[in-house]
Amino acid sequence: MTDAPLLAKLRDLIEANGPMSVAEYMTHCLSDPVHGYYATRDPFGVAGDFITAPEISQMFGEIVGAWLVDVWQRLGGPDPVNLVELGPGRGTLMSDILRVARLAPDFEQAVSIHLVETSPVLKKRQQEVLNAAGAEAHWHDAFNQVPPGPLLVIANEFFDALPIRQFVRLDIWRERAVGLDVRGRLAFGVGPGVLDDGPDAPQGSIFEICPAATAIMTEIAMRVADENGAALIIDYGHAQSASGETLQALYGQSFSDPLDRPGESDLTAHVDFAALGRTAAEAGAATHGPMPQGEFLNALGLMERAEQLSATADAAERDTVRAAVERLSAAEEMGALFKALAVTPRGIVPPPFG
Ligand code: SAH
Repeated sequence: MTDAPLLAKLRDLIEANGPMSVAEYMTHCLSDPVHGYYATRDPFGVAGDFITAPEISQMFGEIVGAWLVDVWQRLGGPDPVNLVELGPGRGTLMSDILRVARLAPDFEQAVSIHLVETSPVLKKRQQEVLNAAGAEAHWHDAFNQVPPGPLLVIANEFFDALPIRQFVRLDIWRERAVGLDVRGRLAFGVGPGVLDDGPDAPQGSIFEICPAATAIMTEIAMRVADENGAALIIDYGHAQSASGETLQALYGQSFSDPLDRPGESDLTAHVDFAALGRTAAEAGAATHGPMPQGEFLNALGLMERAEQLSATADAAERDTVRAAVERLSAAEEMGALFKALAVTPRGIVPPPFG
């Protein structure tokens, strides 16, 4: 097998600077401007490495769109309002949201669309999709570039792509690092970093933190609390912080070793919803959930929407709708591992959390 192009670069960096943190490794693998995973490809869909909820069915984006309109009304209908999506992938979720927004002309008229995306390949794809939908949008490399004012933020499978730091329980929590073994292959070891406030756990346990998630959630929650707005974070992860390794690699829809094929497989980690919620609360916002995705979608009318779509569909389309409902909401599919967390100003309770 020929080496992944990013491997030579990582070897040079490690030889020059010593082992790198898992967060640095993930950043290179996902975001290297030449060889990074997201920088070079469209990873979604049947031919890609994974399929996300908006790619499974339009029902997902339509329900999220209806949620956004409802929450916007509960916030007093701020006009103008920035509708912000983090990591919009192929642009499918935003175009499904906008189809629903058309049914609420006040909302549609008030929103200005902002997409936060680092991948040039996906940005181009998003531009094509939103142009075709007749929508005007603005792109940013980072959330902090979104202009001030009331905002509605949606992020589906965005936080799991942010780089994590890992710590191994030895005498204390020591940072896990990626170095080279005697044969020059990438290998996990221990670097100079330590963690002072990790949980109690047996020797050899792994604990993960995501400083990038903390930073972005702090900015979102401060703006929601200070400038009015709401955020909806949907992702896979755990409701309670706990030790355990969740870094994973996907290549061609199968799990693979995170150190194999750097830049060619998707690297993600489970989202620590307890940590995200704590961060938002510390920044002055109210948090709701996390609620399992199945429960969230069902409470917001997934079955009703499926019935509506099926009413005008042929038998094959009805099967597709039924399969999508199952995939999105069944506990053994995406219904339980995926969770929804909402952030609002204090005193507001969005559906279906009330
Ligand atoms: N929300 C989409 C795509 C999820 S994949 C869906 O549900 O289908 C993750 C997305 O986040 C991709 O668009 C990726 O390019 C983007 N992304 C990853 N890291 C990012 C970062 N640090 N800043 C902005 N976008 C990022």
